[in-house]
Amino acid sequence: MGKQDGKRAKLLRDLVRHAETMIQAGVSRTTRTCSTPSCGCHVDPSRRHGPHMYLTFRSAAGKSASVYVAPEHVAEALAAKGAWDRFWDAAVAVAAGNREGRRRRWQRGRRARRAR
Ligand SMILES: [Zn+2]
Repeated sequence: MGKQDGKRAKLLRDLVRHAETMIQAGVSRTTRTCSTPSCGCHVDPSRRHGPHMYLTFRSAAGKSASVYVAPEHVAEALAAKGAWDRFWDAAVAVAAGNREGRRRRWQRGRRARRAR
């Protein structure tokens, strides 16, 4: 197996591995006021509650949507978003390799036709 084949096999393994846990989303952190009118959060911005984390994304229907992430799940959510980023990097690298492979094959075909 050539060096390029080994690199490609690793990228394909990475795609599958990251697909297991990836979440395609943006991360948003907001603070908010609560429903208790006497709470300090209503008069002092530094006493607002949070920050609360949300994963933001577009639904299949194209609408903006978000998922609240409780503090104990923040690390897992960030890892899932990171898995998407690495999945994307691996997909771009595989696609570039596919493009180069086709380009070489198509050029060989043109040279062979010209030689006839
Ligand atoms: Zn409050």
